[in-house]
Amino acid sequence: MENFKTDLDADGILLCSFDVPGKTMNTFTRGALADLEAIANRAKTEAEIKGVVITSGKSNGFCAGADLDDLFGGGWEVEGEGEDALKATFNVAFEMNRIYRLLETCGKPVAVAINGLALGGGLELSMACHYRVIGNGPKTQVGLPEIKIGIFPGGGGSQRLPRLIGTQAALLAMSEGKSFKPQEALGMGIVHEMVEAGKEVEAAKTWIKTKGDPVAPWDKKDFKIPGGGPYHPAGSQVFIMGNAMLRKQSYGNYPAVINLMHAVYEGLQVPFDTALKIETRYFSKTLMTPQAKAMMRTFFFSMQAIGKGSGRPEGYAKTEFSQVAVLGAGMMGAGIAYVQAMAGIKTVLIDRDQASADKGKAHCEDLIKKQVSRGKLTKEQGQATLDLITAAPDYSLIAGSDLVVEAVFENSDLKATVTKAAEAHLADTAVFGSNTSTIPISDLAKASARPKNYIGIHFFSPVDKMMLVEIIMGKETSDETLAKAVDYVLKIKKTPIVVNDSRYFFANRCFIPFTAEGLHLWAEGYSPAIIDNAGRMTGMPRGPLEMMDDVALDLLVKITSETAKAEGDAYVPIPGEKEVAAMVADGRLGRKSNKGFYDYPAEKTATKTLWPGLSEKFQPTILEADPALVEELKKRMLYVQAVTAARCFEDGVITDPREADVGSILGWGFAPWSGGIVSLIDSIGVANFVAELDRMTKAYGDRFAPPQLLRDMAAKGETFYGRFGKVKNDKAAA
Ligand code: NAD
Repeated sequence: MENFKTDLDADGILLCSFDVPGKTMNTFTRGALADLEAIANRAKTEAEIKGVVITSGKSNGFCAGADLDDLFGGGWEVEGEGEDALKATFNVAFEMNRIYRLLETCGKPVAVAINGLALGGGLELSMACHYRVIGNGPKTQVGLPEIKIGIFPGGGGSQRLPRLIGTQAALLAMSEGKSFKPQEALGMGIVHEMVEAGKEVEAAKTWIKTKGDPVAPWDKKDFKIPGGGPYHPAGSQVFIMGNAMLRKQSYGNYPAVINLMHAVYEGLQVPFDTALKIETRYFSKTLMTPQAKAMMRTFFFSMQAIGKGSGRPEGYAKTEFSQVAVLGAGMMGAGIAYVQAMAGIKTVLIDRDQASADKGKAHCEDLIKKQVSRGKLTKEQGQATLDLITAAPDYSLIAGSDLVVEAVFENSDLKATVTKAAEAHLADTAVFGSNTSTIPISDLAKASARPKNYIGIHFFSPVDKMMLVEIIMGKETSDETLAKAVDYVLKIKKTPIVVNDSRYFFANRCFIPFTAEGLHLWAEGYSPAIIDNAGRMTGMPRGPLEMMDDVALDLLVKITSETAKAEGDAYVPIPGEKEVAAMVADGRLGRKSNKGFYDYPAEKTATKTLWPGLSEKFQPTILEADPALVEELKKRMLYVQAVTAARCFEDGVITDPREADVGSILGWGFAPWSGGIVSLIDSIGVANFVAELDRMTKAYGDRFAPPQLLRDMAAKGETFYGRFGKVKNDKAAA
């Protein structure tokens, strides 16, 4: 048996240690499932086996879930369409349920000793055991996070969890994909017993020897669903409320959530074995939706690939960063210093005077204190992290740095001055990265004596929370510099995408049209409430007007005026931009000044209200939106971003669809249900997308005009992943 090591002790307890060869973390492959089936059959047929304990042989976790690659057709998505593919996914899900159920009904008591993280299929296996012991290790947690990749628990989880902890708690846990620490899991009733880490197997064996009940609660005659099932008045209430709540939260964008509700509601009304079949049906159906396919690809495979540095050129040794300097200790610079220190990098934080440098370090200290108060760092670790940062107005401290990240004011002349000042102290091999958000990297690189070593390293605000970093290649930037920049971003535990130089690079270039579309709609007379509501219904975290308030209106005004300057006669003004400029002149800067499109109350818990003065600028004439109109507004807000992404591919600003998808979701919250900005186009179909864009260009203007690239792709029947995809090649090489 390859994936489980078994050992039968003198008491007749078969200890099975899950240990998939060649992997640091256990996941369920077809092979592991086959081994589990063999274990269940042994328990059932061998009289000397009195009970079974399942645990992990790995030091860093119990089981992280199913190996999607291995289980579902050996590819990054379920291959093909229609009945055959449906049958294939159905078979996998069916097998998983059949084998877990075989173990559960083997007639011998089965206990699980959860000695590390147990997620997805790992927790599902645990729930198919009759007794669950969890170790109180610092990294141990349990949960069913499937919803985050567009599917739902299909290994019995959607049926066992509600029968274990009640419908309401189970639906919440599964629809949010939340994980729970050992103490929480115990309190909720997900596990029976919590012990000190390392004592799990001992406790599991004790249970088998003393109590050892081999029948699951739901297989007992008098079983009742905690909190009542769908026919119980309280239970039915949960479904009515839950349905309304989940649909409102997801605006129907996530079929996985809706199918989960179906599976739980219908499954709870029938005997357990039938319930598992119902789960399998809805699970397979979910897997076949474009949303699940795209989300699995982006959130699972693409994020993994990018997290391993898929954008890094080969052939350069990995850089270890002994010291990194940050220029400018403002909002961005301080955030960058903090993430560096958290990654263990010695950091010098430079500003123009001591007070400004100290202010930046104080911000780092606040963030570190938060980590200490949350128990993520000990006090000593917090202090050691803070001690890694030296804040001073002294450029000579830069000497010895492997990298400089520049985050001074957004001003070309100032950036040129600090580049020269820093390079005077730098070794020839050191990299200089600018965090500019609007100035082309190749222009800034002109101030550098070593433009080959000059690159864009573009963070998003707030730096401590935002996972994406855009790496921008200037005209002269070398591959070696790129390799170092990717190493740096991975070292500080962020996700790097690599793009070529262009105005606003990739992320902001695609995001700005979303806010601009909000202004178009406002000027057309749509009520601001309709605009932001439709914006949220697209799956974006906020509507365009709210988003503008968050970003800061003065920044947007600056960006539009810079664009106008750069484009000269070709510039097409956005309706509403003058009105926003007037709001800024009146001190309405957005959320940071507590007033913008909305008025923000002093107490943070109170809700914001639309600023009444908006209607003096554009009198709203469209105060009601029927579903068809809402669909059109949603399309305008999403398609204007997606067509911009297509232009970025045409211009060669971005070249890898995985980076475009991951970047759009991590960078500005692009509708996660779509799997990202180009997955959206692929799932609509390029030809359909082009036809819609042609219609919308006539109706709303040239900002929707499809680039030639899309027409070519439509003519050839291509997709972005087909034409630009490196996924399959990478897989073949792996
Ligand atoms: P900020 O105004 O908060 O900070 C700029 C800092 O630079 C200030 O502390 C200032 O004292 C310092 N500075 C000025 N002259 C200096 C000098 N000669 N030497 C050293 N330090 C000097 O600005 P910010 O929001 O942190 O933005 C910094 C950079 O990051 C800009 O290029 C901006 O475009 C870019 N950026 C900003 C955001 C954002 O959301 N704010 C996002 C991405 C990138």
